[in-house]
Amino acid sequence: MSRVYNFSAGPAVLPEVVLRQAAAEMLDYQGTGMSVMEMSHRSKPFASIIETAEADLRELMAIPDNYKVLFLQGGATQQFAAIPMNLMQNKVADYIVSGSWSKKAFKEAKLYGDARCIASSEDGNFSYVPNLDNLEISPDADYVYICQNETIYGTRYPKLPDTQGKPLVSDVSSMFLSEPMNVADYGLIYGGVQKNIGPAGVVIVIVRDDLVMEDVLPFTPSIMRYSTQVAAKSLSNTPPAYGIYICGLVFKWLKEMGGLSAMQQRNQEKAAILYDYLDSSRLFKATARKEDRSLMNVPFVTGDAELDALFVAEAKNHNIESIKGHRSVGGMRASIYNAMPKEGVEALVAYMAEFEKIHG
Ligand SMILES: *Cc1c(COP(=O)(O)O)cnc(C)c1O
Repeated sequence: MSRVYNFSAGPAVLPEVVLRQAAAEMLDYQGTGMSVMEMSHRSKPFASIIETAEADLRELMAIPDNYKVLFLQGGATQQFAAIPMNLMQNKVADYIVSGSWSKKAFKEAKLYGDARCIASSEDGNFSYVPNLDNLEISPDADYVYICQNETIYGTRYPKLPDTQGKPLVSDVSSMFLSEPMNVADYGLIYGGVQKNIGPAGVVIVIVRDDLVMEDVLPFTPSIMRYSTQVAAKSLSNTPPAYGIYICGLVFKWLKEMGGLSAMQQRNQEKAAILYDYLDSSRLFKATARKEDRSLMNVPFVTGDAELDALFVAEAKNHNIESIKGHRSVGGMRASIYNAMPKEGVEALVAYMAEFEKIHG
C-alpha cells in the first residue's frame, strides 16, 4: 500500500492514524458486533460517539457554555440559506465579499431579505481581503457575514472586522481547527468538515444561544431551524452518523497532537516552507496578497498556462496529487490542511525546485 501526498482542497487528506483506527473498527465497533455505519443513531454507543465528539470539540476550541454545537447535513452551502432564514429578524444583513464562497452566500441571502455587500475585493480577482477599516455597517443589520479563509483564492482575514456590536457570522470551512479562535468574538461559526476535519456530509454550526430563535422567517423548513436542531441535539432526523464518528476520531487526534496552538505552529511552519520558496522563486509566484495569505490554501502560478499544465501533469511522478488550481485562478493550488505532513510540503517544494531548474 502506498499513500500519495494529497493537496486536494476538499474532500481532503485525513490523518492516517484516524483512517487506520476507522478500518480496525469497521466490522466491530468496540464489541458491538457492528460498524458505526450500521448502528441506530438512537443507540447508546452512538449517543456516546456524538456526545464525546461535542465535548472534545468544546475543549479544543474552548467554546463557552452559551454557545450551542450542531452536527448537521447539507454542507456549508445549505447554511448560506439557513443563516439568513434563522437570523434575519430585520431582514437586513451586511456581507463582505472576499471570494467565490462569500459571493455565493451573499447571493443566496438576497433571496430572503435585504443583503448588502459592504465591501468587496472582486475588482482584484479576490487576491486580497477588502479593507476592514471604516466599514459602513447597517444600523439595522441582523448580522455581518464573512468567509474567513477563502479556499479558492487562498486569502485569510488578517483580523476580524469591527461589526459595531452586530453578530459576526463566519464561514470557516477551510480553516476549521487549524488554529485557536476566540469563539466569543462571533455570533455564529460554521463550516463543512470535508476540508480540514472529516469526510463530506457533515457541517458543524457553533451558534450563540440568543441567536437560536423561534421567531425565524416564516417559511423556514423545520429541519433548517436552529431551534429544532438545538432541541433535538442534532438528532431531529438521522444525522450523518458515520461522518460524525470520523470527526470525533479527528478531534481525539488533534488533542493528542497538542491542541490548536500546536496545530497553528505546525501549520505556520508548513506554510512558511512553501511561501519562502515561492518568494525566492523566479518561476513560481503566489497569487494572494502577502498580508492576507492563507495558511491552508496556497494558490500559485508560473505565469505560463502551458508550463502550469506540465507541472500539474508531471506531479504524479512525484507522488503529488490534486495540485491543479481552481479554474477561476488557474495554475496550481496546494491545500496544506492539518493532516498534510511537513514531508508532503517538502516533497512539493523539492519538485518545484527541480521543475524550476529545467524550465526556469
Ligand atoms: C468548500 C466550501 C464551501 C462549500 O461547502 P459544501 O459543503 O460543498 O457546501 C463553502 N465555503 C467554503 C469556504 C468552502 O471552502
